[in-house]
Amino acid sequence: MKCETKKTIYLDNNATTLLDPQVLEVMLPYLTNKFGNPSSFHLFGQETSDALENARNTVADILGATNKEIFFTSGGTESNNWILKGIATANQNKGNHIITTAVEHHAVLDTCKYLEKNGFQVTYLPVDGTGLVSLDALKSSLTDQTILVSIIAANNEVGTLQPLKEIGEFLKSISDNSTVRRKIFFHSDTIQLLGKMPFNIKNLHLDAASFSAHKIYGPKGIGAAYIKLGTKIDRLLHGGYQEKNRRAGTENVGGIVGFGKACEIIKLYDNKLKQKLYQGLLDNIPDMSLNGSLENSLPNTLNLSFKHVEGEGIVLLLNAQGIAVSSGSACTSGLIETSHVLKAMNTDIICARGSIRFSLGKNNTEQEISQVIKILPPIIKRLRKMSPLL
Ligand SMILES: *Cc1c(COP(=O)(O)O)cnc(C)c1O
Repeated sequence: MKCETKKTIYLDNNATTLLDPQVLEVMLPYLTNKFGNPSSFHLFGQETSDALENARNTVADILGATNKEIFFTSGGTESNNWILKGIATANQNKGNHIITTAVEHHAVLDTCKYLEKNGFQVTYLPVDGTGLVSLDALKSSLTDQTILVSIIAANNEVGTLQPLKEIGEFLKSISDNSTVRRKIFFHSDTIQLLGKMPFNIKNLHLDAASFSAHKIYGPKGIGAAYIKLGTKIDRLLHGGYQEKNRRAGTENVGGIVGFGKACEIIKLYDNKLKQKLYQGLLDNIPDMSLNGSLENSLPNTLNLSFKHVEGEGIVLLLNAQGIAVSSGSACTSGLIETSHVLKAMNTDIICARGSIRFSLGKNNTEQEISQVIKILPPIIKRLRKMSPLL
């Protein structure tokens, strides 16, 4: 029997990305012989402490921040948890109201639910059919208790981009207004935006933002929090004096060095392959619809619905042909759970159940996209033939 290695096509880059070989190369010494604890005063510590600060400078430069505003964490989830809980509790004496959106990642959504159980009030802003929040809705939900606004920059499921700059300018204008006594902090989960589109933190008037290395071809388990100078925030992790005495725990030096390199080699995306994929599928599959917006969206993310089929079925059949995508629904204990994002967008339930997300990466080729355009239409046809929904 001939053993063939199967060609695979990876289109799930919003879930995670391949570690770039250049990143691995700079990490390796810090996973082997450069092992000193950065807090140690000897040569071994000096070497890793220098590497840490170099990486911090690189990350700060890419974001348009200063190195005093960058704190390394264990990833996007920790950054979101720390920023939300830390700002909420540190500013509790000024108010207890938080505004976020219905389309956040669970790392924000569930942190807000936790805060609700602990004395805070949270408004979850609704979105329109493309997943967009409105500044007017935000304005009318503000109260004199509002201390924090957290808005995801680019949604991980559908790719929709929120009007961060507009919101940032508005929040800054009220904080600058001397008749209003309080400051409303502005946070964004910018994890999906970084590395895909041009980005400068100061232009958005953010007080805090969250980043994750493994979404930008860096290693897993490392990320950063941007916290603007002067922001009142409590710790999440208590212990040692690391990270300017704000985030305890011996630093993940290898991860941090890798994160720095991943930032340094960012190659922004264009939407050519996404356009090609969308058009190719549209021409070959009836009853297909787009979730989100084609234009106001991440250049790599395409979320599509196929009427009368289950997203999980599509994922399985594509997987059998070596194509990796993810579905907007998750089958838990036999029940199909539709995504909170599609629900918030008021997506027709029949469509929401048949949704899949393509998230392209820097290594995908035109040939791979052509392959998907060839393979998917017969899969949809086959699933529709056996669909109990039809
Ligand atoms: C991946 C992701 C997270 C979580 O980041 P981790 O580093 O995996 O913890 C949070 N928010 C968004 C939008 C993400 O895409």
